[in-house]
Amino acid sequence: MNKFEQLGLNESLLLAIKDLGFENPSEVQEKAIPVLLEKNTDLVALAQTGTGKTAAFGFPLIQKIDAEDRSTQALILSPTRELCLQITNEIKQYSKYVKGINTVAVYGGASITEQARDIKRGAQIIVATPGRMQDMINRGLVNIKNINFCILDEADEMLNMGFYEDIVSILSDTPDEKNTWLFSATMPAEVARIAKKFMHDPAEVTVGSKNSGSATVSHEFYCVNARDRYEALKRLADANPDIFSVVFCRTKRDTQAVAEKLIEDGYSAAALHGDLSQAQRDGVMKSFRGRQIQMLVATDVAARGIDVDNITHVVNYQLPDEIETYNHRSGRTGRAGKLGTSIVIITKSELRKISSIERIIQQKFEEKTIPSGIEICEIQLLHLANKIKDTEVDHEIDNYLPAINEVLDGLTKEELIKKMVSVEFNRFINYYKKKRDLSGEKGERSERSSEPREIRAGDPVRYFVNIGSRDDFDWMQLKDFLKETLDLGRDDVFKVDVKEGFSFFNTDGEHTDKVMSVLNGFDLNGRRINVEISKNDGGSRERRDHNGRSGGGFGGGRSGGGFRGDRNSGDRSSAPRSGSFGPRTDRNERSSAPRREGGFSSDRPAREGGFKSAAPRREPGSSQRESAPRRSEGSSDRPASRSFDDAKTRRPRRS
Ligand code: ADP
Ligand code: MG
Repeated sequence: MNKFEQLGLNESLLLAIKDLGFENPSEVQEKAIPVLLEKNTDLVALAQTGTGKTAAFGFPLIQKIDAEDRSTQALILSPTRELCLQITNEIKQYSKYVKGINTVAVYGGASITEQARDIKRGAQIIVATPGRMQDMINRGLVNIKNINFCILDEADEMLNMGFYEDIVSILSDTPDEKNTWLFSATMPAEVARIAKKFMHDPAEVTVGSKNSGSATVSHEFYCVNARDRYEALKRLADANPDIFSVVFCRTKRDTQAVAEKLIEDGYSAAALHGDLSQAQRDGVMKSFRGRQIQMLVATDVAARGIDVDNITHVVNYQLPDEIETYNHRSGRTGRAGKLGTSIVIITKSELRKISSIERIIQQKFEEKTIPSGIEICEIQLLHLANKIKDTEVDHEIDNYLPAINEVLDGLTKEELIKKMVSVEFNRFINYYKKKRDLSGEKGERSERSSEPREIRAGDPVRYFVNIGSRDDFDWMQLKDFLKETLDLGRDDVFKVDVKEGFSFFNTDGEHTDKVMSVLNGFDLNGRRINVEISKNDGGSRERRDHNGRSGGGFGGGRSGGGFRGDRNSGDRSSAPRSGSFGPRTDRNERSSAPRREGGFSSDRPAREGGFKSAAPRREPGSSQRESAPRRSEGSSDRPASRSFDDAKTRRPRRS
C-alpha cells in the first residue's frame, strides 16, 4: 500500500497521483488529508508556499464532492487570477479519473458572462478571486447558498491584498453548516480574526514553525557599494549559469530599468510589474514558466501568486520596505522539497536589516563575496565543457562533415578543443580581465573621505544631481524618489529644485555619506546618477554655473567631480560585450543563416508559446523598449533551443 493509499484516498485519485508522479505525500498533505477525509470539520493549516497545499485540500475535496450532483458544492477563494488558474488546473488534473466533476475558474479581467455560463452548465467546484466572486454574487450570477465546502487558500495574501471585506461578505452568503478550510503561510492577526469569526472549532495543522521561512531555502547576502548593485547582479547570474530566478526590486521603475538593462546585456530577462497589461503579464509568466526567461524581474505586488517550481534563486536586488515581505519573496524558491537560495544584494548602510530578517525567518544568513572575474570564468568554462559533452549530435550535420573537416584539417585535438571553447569564451574572458572585484572593496569610502569638505551633522548640505524634468521628475516626484531611494524620512529632503537636465536638493549633513554612496552611480533607467555637493547653500540656487553638465546631461560633460570620474565613465562607455557567451556574432550568424530549409529544424519542434506572440510590449506612452527578451531571432524559425540552458547561451549578450 503506498503512502497516499494509507491516507485514505480512493482509486481514481491514486491513479491521478500516479500520473502526476507524486511518490510520497508532503507533510501538510500527510497531516491534513486524513483529517479532512474522516471528519466533517473546519481546518486551519499553516504551511509555507511550495509545500503542496493545493493537493492537501484538493484530494479530500474531490473525494467528498458528489459528482452526480451538478450543483455548486465547493468554493475555493484564492488571491490572484494567476493562482486561481493554477489551482483550477491542478484540481482538473487531480479529478481526471472522476467522471462528471467540473471545475470553473472565476477571476477578473475575463468575460463575466462566459464564466457565469460555465457555472450554469454545472460546476461543482468554483475557484475564484474574491473581487470577481463578489461581483458575481451581486449580479446574481452564481449561487453559493448550498455549498458544503469553502476553502480559503493563501488567506494571508488575500488579506494582505485588502480582500477582507469581500471575504467577509462572500462567506456571509454561504451556509453555516459548510466546512471551511483555511490555508495560509503565516498567521497574522487578520487571518486569526477571519478564522475566529467564520470557523467552528477548527482542526489545526502546522508545518514548520509559524511564520518561519522554509527550511529548504538558504539565505545569503552580498555587501556591495550602491553603485555596484547592478554589476553584482550580473556577476551572480554569470556565476550561476543555470540560474532560474525571480529578481525583486522595490519600485516599478527599478523593475523595468533592471530588466531592460539585463536584456540589453544579453540575459534572458523580463519585467513583471503593475504597469503591464494583463495580457503582457500573462505573456511574461508563460515565458517564465516555459523557461524562456531565466531572470524575472518583478515587484512584490506583481510577483504575488507566482508559483513556479524549480526556481533556483530569489534575488533581493533591493530589500523590501516591509521586512516581513522578505519571507514571501524567499518562499518563491525551495518549493516542493527542492533546495533554493535567497540572495540579498545589500549596501553597508542597510546591513542592520539582515539581523532583523534573521529574527523573523529564524534562520541565519551567510555572508558571501561576489565571485571574482577569474572565478566566474572558471565556472563558465566548465559549464561550457559540460555542455559540449552533453550536447546531442543531430546527424543531419554528418552531411556537412567533409566540408568542415576540410576547413579544420591539420588541427590537433587539443588545438581544436581550445579553439572551440574560445569561440564562445574569448569575449567573456576579455570582459572580466578588465574588471575589478566588487566585494570587499572599501575604495569608495576612503576615496571620498579624502575629498576636501567639512560637513557636520546639523548643517544643511546642498547637492547637485544630474537628473531633472527631462527624466520625468517634477519636484515632488524627485523628492519622493530621493526619500525612497535613500530610505529617508518625510522632511529629510528639502529645497528640491528641478531643472531640465539637473536638479538641486538639500539634506542635513548627517545624511551626506548616504546620499553620496547610494546615489552616485545609481542606475536610473540605464542612466547613471551623478551627485555632487554644491558649493551653493541653496538660498541662491541659480548662481552656480552648471553649463558643463546641464547641457550635455550625461554622456559628455562628466569630467568634473573628482572622485567618481573615471571609474564610472570608463565602465560605461568601454564596457565590453559582457556576457560574451553566445556573443553577438551568434545572433547575426543565426539570423542570416538559412532557416528551416536546412532541414534540421523539422524534428525540433519550436518551443511552446513562441516568443513573438508572448513578448509583451509596453503600453503606449511609456518607453519604447520591450520589456521582454527580444527573441527576434524567433523561436519558431530557427532550430529551437529546448533546454533553458540553451536559451541562455545562445542569447546574444552585450553590455
Ligand atoms: P503551495 O500551495 O503549498 O504553495 P503547491 O500546492 O502549489 O504548494 O505545490 C507546489 C508544487 O509541489 C507543485 O508543483 C505540486 O505539483 C508539487 N507537489 C505537491 N505535492 C507533491 C507531492 N506529494 N510530491 C511531489 N510534488 C508535489
Ligand atoms: Mg498554494
